[in-house]
Amino acid sequence: AKSRGLSQYCFYQPEMAEKTAKKTRMEQMLRQALEKNELLLHYQPQICAQTQALVGAEVLVRWQPEGQPMVSPAQFIPLAEETGLIIPVGEWIFRRACEQYVEWRAQGMHDILLSVNVSPHQIQEADFVERFVAIIEETGIDASRVVLEITESLAIQEGEDAIPKLKTLKQRGLQISMDDFGTGYSSLGVLKLYQVDSLKIAREFIRDLSDDHEQRTIVNAILAMAASMKLKVIAEGVETKEQYDHLRLQGCDWIQGFYFSKPLPAEEFARFAGGGRLT
Ligand code: C2E
Ligand code: CA
Ligand code: CA
Repeated sequence: AKSRGLSQYCFYQPEMAEKTAKKTRMEQMLRQALEKNELLLHYQPQICAQTQALVGAEVLVRWQPEGQPMVSPAQFIPLAEETGLIIPVGEWIFRRACEQYVEWRAQGMHDILLSVNVSPHQIQEADFVERFVAIIEETGIDASRVVLEITESLAIQEGEDAIPKLKTLKQRGLQISMDDFGTGYSSLGVLKLYQVDSLKIAREFIRDLSDDHEQRTIVNAILAMAASMKLKVIAEGVETKEQYDHLRLQGCDWIQGFYFSKPLPAEEFARFAGGGRLT
């Protein structure tokens, strides 16, 4: 075991250094991404399970560094959180999404919901509420159309501090949605505490819905519980007709996933929203 430890030492050391260097490079690039206009937003349709009408859009950020391949948010959002860059980046995302929404409304788009992912680090900021309220007022978006997607880890990380902040935003008309429900420290207590309006069943549970009896039991239980608590439920990562049919028959409210559409650039989303199939 000792010689193995040594070889590990020799083998992993340069690899780790390389990883750190890559991260540092990426951090420097991300710092400039806003000024260089390299961030953009995609919008994924959210569909009413019963009528198949378009009911909302989830805002998903994209990063296209100049002359480089696209970087996935799963990669750069954690980095942005680590470095604090999530604060300016998150603010840019929210402002841009609200502006886009107001533009769409002016063009006659139906008043769908606009769901925006909010990192726990953003909520932690002392002036989080003021900044978000300012953006709502400056862009003129109808606050009741805005949904903040929060994650369950928030409850653990923020303690009680996040609750009054979210409550204030709710009083301003915003809605709260619990993202990735079922994966983290999910509990009914957390849903009540945060006064969430809706929850999103994590993709993990949807993936094996058609052939895994246990997953089906979990999903059905979440749907029954949500109904009794009068919470809306959205299933994410729905890719097949089987998954959609099961969710619809079990009373799931809204569907998001490749089965209906992948996340779309703004112009394509507007076309999707105006298309014949959906109202
Ligand atoms: P998330 O909030 O759970 O977002 C859903 C992810 O699932 C998105 O990945 C979306 O493209 C993907 N997805 C949607 N439908 C399907 C499907 O049918 N099948 C499969 N396999 N995947 C599907 P994306 O855009 O790569 O984002 C990854 C994560 O990065 C997000 O997970 C979220 O945690 C984070 N993220 C993305 N945009 C933002 C943002 O604007 N702010 C913050 N704070 N985080 C963001
Ligand atoms: Ca989300
Ligand atoms: Ca999610």
